[in-house]
Amino acid sequence: MTKALDKNYYTEEKLSKEDLLFFKKALEDKKEKIEKNITLNLNNVQNEDKCHLKDEADQANNLIDSHTTNSILKEQTKSLNQVNRCLNKIEFGRYGICNMCEEVIDIERLKVKIFAEHCISCREIMENQ
Ligand SMILES: [Zn+2]
Repeated sequence: MTKALDKNYYTEEKLSKEDLLFFKKALEDKKEKIEKNITLNLNNVQNEDKCHLKDEADQANNLIDSHTTNSILKEQTKSLNQVNRCLNKIEFGRYGICNMCEEVIDIERLKVKIFAEHCISCREIMENQ
């Protein structure tokens, strides 16, 4: 039987229902902020497209701006995907479980790194490779 299907999973392991609710709330807050940011940046991009540029210097600046906006957007989208993945994991009882060894990730580690998908030992192994 997998851990996710075991109804005692939450009480036996380190992450309690309260802990999971805490992370869920934190992730949902993050999600809301990121989505707001993405909407803001998308509006910026659209506004830039609409305005007429006076000279080449302006055009160059504009290019740099939209370049920055694009990389911000990319970064934000990446974070949004991570948030969604974590929320999904909470839904399926997989949040806080190491992807490599299936052990529960230390809660203090999760508090610092909410997207953590590996326990400290596996992380170290990966970094040493
Ligand atoms: Zn591990």
